[in-house]
Amino acid sequence: MNTKPHIHIVWLKRDLRLQDNEAIFNALKTGQRILILYSFEPMLMNDPHYSDRHWNFIKESLIDLNTCLKPYNSKVLVVQSDIIAVVNQLLSNYKINAVYSHQETGIRVTYERDKTFKRFCKNNLITWHENINNGVTRGLENRENWTELCNAFYETQPLKFTPKQNQLLTLADIEALENYFNLPNLKTDINAPFQKGGRTMGLKYLKSFFNHRYSNYMFNISKPDLARSSCSRISPYIAWGNLSVREVYHEAYHLKATSKHKKALEAFMSRLRWQAHFVQKFEMEHTMEEASINKGFHKLKKRISKIYKDAWETGTTGYPLVDACMRCLNETGYLNFRMRALVVSFFTHNLWQPWQEATTHLSQMFLDFEPGIHFPQLQMQAGETGTNMLRIYNPIKNSLEHDPEAKFIKKWVPELADLDTPFAHQPYLMTELEQQFYNFKLGENYPHPIVELEATRKKAGDTLWKLRKNKEVIEESKRILRRHTLNRKSFKN
Ligand SMILES: Cc1cc2nc3c(=O)[nH]c(=O)nc-3n(C[C@H](O)[C@H](O)[C@H](O)COP(=O)(O)OP(=O)(O)OC[C@H]3O[C@@H](n4cnc5c(N)ncnc54)[C@H](O)[C@@H]3O)c2cc1C
Repeated sequence: MNTKPHIHIVWLKRDLRLQDNEAIFNALKTGQRILILYSFEPMLMNDPHYSDRHWNFIKESLIDLNTCLKPYNSKVLVVQSDIIAVVNQLLSNYKINAVYSHQETGIRVTYERDKTFKRFCKNNLITWHENINNGVTRGLENRENWTELCNAFYETQPLKFTPKQNQLLTLADIEALENYFNLPNLKTDINAPFQKGGRTMGLKYLKSFFNHRYSNYMFNISKPDLARSSCSRISPYIAWGNLSVREVYHEAYHLKATSKHKKALEAFMSRLRWQAHFVQKFEMEHTMEEASINKGFHKLKKRISKIYKDAWETGTTGYPLVDACMRCLNETGYLNFRMRALVVSFFTHNLWQPWQEATTHLSQMFLDFEPGIHFPQLQMQAGETGTNMLRIYNPIKNSLEHDPEAKFIKKWVPELADLDTPFAHQPYLMTELEQQFYNFKLGENYPHPIVELEATRKKAGDTLWKLRKNKEVIEESKRILRRHTLNRKSFKN
């Protein structure tokens, strides 16, 4: 007879929160005792898309979760191991009836891991419940009813975390379990220049955004410097699940009723909905991780240049705005939308490099790396969907327009800080004499432009426009539109 105590497990993945967490809510609803688990899985920790800044954000999120669980005399069991090995070990301590997690729209390795885990659960008579996260629906053939599904999801109230007394495994239970596992060190460097992980921090960003920062949202959204404070900066908290999109959406909706800046809130809420839109696209087109969604573009062959790639990654291309963006991203983990699009455009159009060569550097650097946005956006900005406008950003035009005093450039490319503003935008316009005046030598203090802007823009534009007339590209574009066009009913803001 099996005398082991019965439990359900909640396996946290990219949903590091207690509130509005469907997996936790549904597990608690059963009335069974619950163990909340997070595992640092070696297969993900070794995956080139991830970097320490992500793992540290997760560690900070888990510490915050444990603080929130203290009043319930519980905590998350945090281990470092393959998930099957963890559950296998737990099976020798407990009778596990079910595992609850969210449906992960992840990369190939998480998809493969989930398939193996599903088989493991079946073999061990464990029911694995995968729960909806942020309104993304699995198994859709097209988007015919997606807007309604999504509206219905966002209109329901966020789910409250209300465990019954002693429903969560106690601190003592979990500390006893910890003896069986390899435990990660959760300490992180508090001086690291990144946004700190955890719901408490996420709520602070949200509060300050809704208190005052959002009023200039639309004025500053494209400006590399000012967007850093006028945009919400909640993306890492959404990507790692410290905040749910639904709860943020509800707050914005309520604020809108009394706000003087309704347009700003509407623009913000639309972007919240784009989050689910992009993730849904990736959910339905998982091959986008490696290949362009439009198969017609697979015939586009670009020669990989290590020199170009290194210069781009390190911010030494000789184009000040591109270099400032890349250095700022490497240092802080954040760039606003337009600058993300601009650096990808420069890489794929002017440097004529395959978007696939940009994926891991960017995913490692973006603190908010969300596969469901990352891969579709990369392909969109590279002009390889066939369904979106082809945009080739001019870095000079953009720096003059969005960083007119070159403040952002001078901050992140300090070798240009002493130049007059026009030269900080275009140092290569300086004559020999002018360089002497500024005690500055192009090619020594700062690189010559790595490519010629106009010629490379033209070559990229001509090639891509020509390809867009290709039969296979057109057929594929039609297929994409049939599968992903939303019906006429729009999102409710
Ligand atoms: C090449 C490229 C890669 C990107 N990779 C990511 C990524 O890995 N993770 C990520 O969260 N965003 C990504 N974005 C989208 C966007 O740039 C960021 O969401 C935004 O800059 C985050 O800043 P914020 O939180 O201040 O945004 P806000 O403007 O305050 O928007 C609020 C939230 O809405 C969502 N959102 C905003 N813009 C978009 C968008 N264009 N598409 C989808 N959702 C959006 C995000 O969840 C964001 O946190 C990418 C954009 C590009 C061009």
